[in-house]
Amino acid sequence: MTAEKISGGVCSDRIKTRPINVGGVTIGGDAPVRVQSMTCTKTGDAEATLGQIRELATAGAELVRVTVNDEAAAEALHRIVAESKTPLVADIHFNHKLALSSLEAGIAKLRINPGNIGNKDKVREVAAAAADKGVPIRIGVNGGSLHKRYDELHGADPAGALVQCALDEIETLAAVGFHDVAVSLKSSEPREVVEACRRFARLSDVPQHLGVTEAGTLLAGTSRSVAAMSVLLAEGIGDTVRISLAADPVQEVLAAFHMLSALGLRQGFARVVACPTCGRVEVDVVKLAARVEELAKDLPPERVVAVMGCIVNGPGEAKAADLGIAAGKTKVAIYRMGELHRTIAKEDLEEVLIAEIERLK
Ligand code: SF4
Repeated sequence: MTAEKISGGVCSDRIKTRPINVGGVTIGGDAPVRVQSMTCTKTGDAEATLGQIRELATAGAELVRVTVNDEAAAEALHRIVAESKTPLVADIHFNHKLALSSLEAGIAKLRINPGNIGNKDKVREVAAAAADKGVPIRIGVNGGSLHKRYDELHGADPAGALVQCALDEIETLAAVGFHDVAVSLKSSEPREVVEACRRFARLSDVPQHLGVTEAGTLLAGTSRSVAAMSVLLAEGIGDTVRISLAADPVQEVLAAFHMLSALGLRQGFARVVACPTCGRVEVDVVKLAARVEELAKDLPPERVVAVMGCIVNGPGEAKAADLGIAAGKTKVAIYRMGELHRTIAKEDLEEVLIAEIERLK
């Protein structure tokens, strides 16, 4: 996906937050909802990590998070930052020294988990170093790893505990003059995420990174993430998203763009309409639609391609698309811009599809 394809589509009634700048990419304010993902390579393996960062960027990721969990990762970060064209976020748990090393390596943003980073002095030390470099911090509050001082509140009001923790950490950083922050209020329970993010949005103009943690595999994880995020985004809440999946992280990026594009918040991909199939089906629609999706991924986002499984109900949808296919027993009808363009033999379909999709560019 090209930069032009992902640049537009700001929803006018989004709740305006205080913007932050992450290596030239604005989060919050008037900026479009940003899509991010996270590498799953060992960060210490700079070659593999850079390879995955490039894959994610090609899919459209505007920010990529990498874990900085040991000395090897902190060391490799120097080369990774130098060679990455995409702003990088260092994910820090437990060891605030690794946050300081990441800043030295030139990271564009830090994500710290206040539940495990240690005492407030360590948080303040990181804040001072980040302020020095003009690097924002995401306060990543996670329901599964809240500090024990929130245990009681979490038991009584889980969403309230996430909000309180985020506010407390913002306050800790504000007390040392650090305001360049974003927050995430995550839980593996989508309804808790909705509740926490809604409440937080009423109380603060700090930009929000939306996510459901440990969401699951491709299908379950996307569904659970979209269930929470689409509610929030439709209410104007959320400045950046990550759909966390136990899958190839490129899928996280694609899923996020599909979600944002369905909500009219970003221009995503050309739309591939595919019939759900039924007993009338004359072609393998599932396989064909996947192939068309692949071929259509570089088309302008306003294009619509329809893959219909039969000539009984297929032609209606096929005519409504820029390019439509309705399969018969031995032949396939090809529609272009609402008109029947030609009828071809089924065995020629792949070749014709490639040529017809090329013509839509
Ligand atoms: S287009 Fe044809 S095959 Fe597809 S669901 Fe409709 S009737 Fe069934």
